[in-house]
Amino acid sequence: MSTNSPTIPPDVAAHVLFHYGQEGGYQAGSFTTDLLSAMGKADPSNLDRLALGFPAYVAAITAIQYDPDGVAYLQDIAAGRCPRCKKDDGPNTPSGHCEACAQPMPLDGAR
Ligand SMILES: [Zn+2]
Repeated sequence: MSTNSPTIPPDVAAHVLFHYGQEGGYQAGSFTTDLLSAMGKADPSNLDRLALGFPAYVAAITAIQYDPDGVAYLQDIAAGRCPRCKKDDGPNTPSGHCEACAQPMPLDGAR
């Protein structure tokens, strides 16, 4: 699986949440609803192909299927909350985090 995760917009998060019966989402149009059904059934190689055209949807599907925190993560995005600090006063960066949380930070503290 690719390590660089594409940005998941709030509407994409909401569509995927709805598709998986989670709170915080709303139904997509008929094409996207069918697309999400196909993605849910796709094996990894076909999912990779779909990711070429719909990277955000595949990222959101992958999060909700394989990440134990995926539902909460998508709910934060759909609600416009920063997935890290849970503030919703924005503005959020393209990564979905607030500006403070989007700052690059050394993982092991100061060197
Ligand atoms: Zn934040």
